[in-house]
Amino acid sequence: MHDRSIIHEGGRLRIDLGAIVQNYRMIANRGAPAEVGAVVKADAYGLGAAEVAKALRDAGCRLFFVAHLDEALRLRPALPADARLVILNGLPPGTEALCAGSQLIPVLNSLDQARRWRDTAQAAGRRLPVALQVDSGMARLGVAPEDLPSLVGDERFGTAVDLVMLMSHLACADAPDHAANADQLARFDAMAALFPGIPRALANSGGAFLPPAFRCDIVRTGIALYGGAPNDTAPNPMQPVVSLDARVIQIRTVPAGGGIGYGHDYRCERESRIATIGVGYADGLPRTLGNRGAAWLDDARLPIVGRVSMDSITLDVTALPPGRLRPGDWVELIGPHQPIDALARDAGTISYEMLTSLGARYHRTYLASDVRDQARAA
Ligand SMILES: *Cc1c(COP(=O)(O)O)cnc(C)c1O
Repeated sequence: MHDRSIIHEGGRLRIDLGAIVQNYRMIANRGAPAEVGAVVKADAYGLGAAEVAKALRDAGCRLFFVAHLDEALRLRPALPADARLVILNGLPPGTEALCAGSQLIPVLNSLDQARRWRDTAQAAGRRLPVALQVDSGMARLGVAPEDLPSLVGDERFGTAVDLVMLMSHLACADAPDHAANADQLARFDAMAALFPGIPRALANSGGAFLPPAFRCDIVRTGIALYGGAPNDTAPNPMQPVVSLDARVIQIRTVPAGGGIGYGHDYRCERESRIATIGVGYADGLPRTLGNRGAAWLDDARLPIVGRVSMDSITLDVTALPPGRLRPGDWVELIGPHQPIDALARDAGTISYEMLTSLGARYHRTYLASDVRDQARAA
């Protein structure tokens, strides 16, 4: 038996489900009357699909998106019967019956997928719900505009399936002034005219912060729920969700000229205090943070010196008052001094990749929405 109150991991990750719910409500209020669905693919961007989906379910969310059938099968039991679960990446051949029998809504991304779903529905003798994606200019997924007439002309398709959503995806939604946004909206509207009365979904998080026309009937929001900035022009309006601290495992004094870590990629210009923290690239802190990123303590920036190792990172902590930092103490990697987007920028990546790379070795704590409300009321 070990004492559960003692954290042995090298890093502790706190996920604020209350903040996720607040972010959901903010986008839902902003987007109304459009319905807001939660994108919980890739294990809710690494934060735990089951936990996140349950918190959002309790907050009234009834529409969820994942990328893969396997993700959907795992998540379905956590959702209420009236919640819809949509599989963005489409319908792999041979999975039609499983998909149809599991209360899931595949996105049809090609004519071949549409035919197979039509035939499955006809064989099942009931109108199976489905979403249809059209390519409005991202050239990634979806039925091409020139293929739409044959689908619209397929009467068997029209009567066999229950088309619950027409969707497309924006390539440049995080850049509000990009001309591609208006262009995609116009193309999407033109294609949607072929499907009168079918709810339309175009916007992701970035799209939710574009002019109201982009919100259509349904918004699919991912990163903004998890506290990431929806675009790179305005200050981030979302509540922070993730905080990450790393534990100091050793502190030493290195003389001027001393080399640090693999390859001696850093040399101390002056005598330096160096702290080693117990997280590394195996925990999702990429090697691109070497000699670039930082951790924080109090209001002091503690630069990463040398390369990022698999299980550890070295920090220059000379700026701290002597005795301020001891082995066992925690320093901030994601938190009030260093939001997820700032750490991602230092690593040369985006918040999406940082979050989905977070490793499995952290001590994870979920701050429940009700606990958070009580804490604030107290
Ligand atoms: C991942 C994804 C989203 C969510 O995007 P965010 O930018 O995280 O809000 C929405 N729609 C589709 C099709 C996606 O693949």
